[in-house]
Amino acid sequence: MTTLWRPELLSGESSSPGLLRNFVDGGFVETGTTFPKLGPVTGAHLFDVCEADEATVDAAVTAARTALNGPWGRMSEQERAAVLRDVADELERRFDDLVAAEVGDTGKSISQARTLDIPRGAANFRAFADFATTTPTESYTTVLPDGRRALNYAVRKPAGVVAIIVPWNLPLLLLTWKVAPALACGNAVVVKPSEETPASATVLAEAMAAAGVPPGVFNLVHGFGPASAGEFLTRHDGVDAITFTGESATGTAIAKAAADGVKAVSFELGGKNAGVVFADANLDAAIEGSVRSTFTNGGQVCLCTERLYVERPVYEEFCERLALRADALTFGWPSEESTVNMPLISRQHRDKVLGYYDLARTEGATVLAGGGVPSFGDARDNGCYVQPTVVTGLPPDARTTTEEIFGPICHVAPFDTEDEAFAQANNSPYGLAATVWTRDVGRAHRAGTALDVGLVWVNTWFLRDLRTPFGGTKLSGLGREGGTHSLDFYSELTNVCVEL
Ligand code: NAD
Repeated sequence: MTTLWRPELLSGESSSPGLLRNFVDGGFVETGTTFPKLGPVTGAHLFDVCEADEATVDAAVTAARTALNGPWGRMSEQERAAVLRDVADELERRFDDLVAAEVGDTGKSISQARTLDIPRGAANFRAFADFATTTPTESYTTVLPDGRRALNYAVRKPAGVVAIIVPWNLPLLLLTWKVAPALACGNAVVVKPSEETPASATVLAEAMAAAGVPPGVFNLVHGFGPASAGEFLTRHDGVDAITFTGESATGTAIAKAAADGVKAVSFELGGKNAGVVFADANLDAAIEGSVRSTFTNGGQVCLCTERLYVERPVYEEFCERLALRADALTFGWPSEESTVNMPLISRQHRDKVLGYYDLARTEGATVLAGGGVPSFGDARDNGCYVQPTVVTGLPPDARTTTEEIFGPICHVAPFDTEDEAFAQANNSPYGLAATVWTRDVGRAHRAGTALDVGLVWVNTWFLRDLRTPFGGTKLSGLGREGGTHSLDFYSELTNVCVEL
């Protein structure tokens, strides 16, 4: 296969970009149209990507349907689970390639890719192999008033051909979070990674083939959303269910496309997540936790904190220390172990985030840290970097404090009471995640019911157990995935009633 990544790609010295192709029915296929992938570290042209046209998407859906009706659909759960464990092994064997692909596409630090993104890819396959083989279905013995008895029990069947559409921020992690349960439940999938991050999905396709996943079970189409692979896939009659992670506005567009065929949908969408710091918290932990929750992955995690509410007695100290920590976060090349900051994904996204930095000032914010673009004096000046930024002084209805920015910026505001803190946190059209910092155990538990979000972390952030329900309320999503919740989405339950 074409080399996906070479070290020189990070410094912009590549002279011969490779070609990434679609993967349909067990083989890589080219199309007539390509688009360039530019690396966010230096703006270098990394590779060209074959954009799937309507015929390619159709071929992928057809291959998936055929595979579903073939040996894959007839395998036992245990046999499929064994294949998924082989996929996990294969991902570990390709660990360095996956790290390279992910670092090249996103500019994230090699240490993050090694410790978070790529290990979670393999872990997702093992976890869902386990869930699918150990999760029981319900059964009831029914006794009718006339004394007749029956046994009711449910059997799980694949949902069918599943379209999987994912964003660019945690490419392999978010893709495998959906591919693994879908395959564990016996479905065949057509996946569309983001146009910004085609590389690790391509390595995953190779891993599928190497692990013995039958042709057609896993198909990969590259391209964009509207009038491209994304829309061709979501509008396709042969797709039974769509699972999507991305922006809320895209979720609306996909919901409309899905309505025609009454396709099942699962949506993991945007967020404007709050962190709430009470005066009784371990302040060191709250500050370090808020640094992580605001700036990890360049602030480009759906779970990142963009609004912080801090109880007044510790507000000034918190702001001062958070700003110092933001200023101290190191910029380095992704290949350097000490690097913390990363670029944004593209020039377009950088323009959007910088637009919010300007808007914050226009809306009257005080900028405590950052607020601009770092200067390197090398090829990274052509990349997509922005400074980690902390602002204060905005009203609750400012656009900066209500709209998802998806960059390394947070606004900090003071509060006086628990009720006020939770009310401010809830004052958002989004409802994905919240983080609460407190030593009061009662308050910690009250937060769980008071906060109108799908995920509440107390004295931590982004600590995940793959068995737990994951998803958001309001504009942040529809449905839950994780553990048995994923099995419920990726399978159809048929109830069997046998009169005894
Ligand atoms: P996006 O919505 O622009 O794109 C996501 C994917 O959808 C891409 O593959 C894109 O090509 C495709 N797409 C776009 N328009 C489409 C259409 N009309 N039909 C079909 N497909 C279409 O999102 P993004 O900018 O790639 O990612 C950032 C967003 O993702 C943020 O809003 C972030 O909060 C969200 N996100 C949510 C979660 C979560 O679990 N809730 C996780 C990660 C990211």
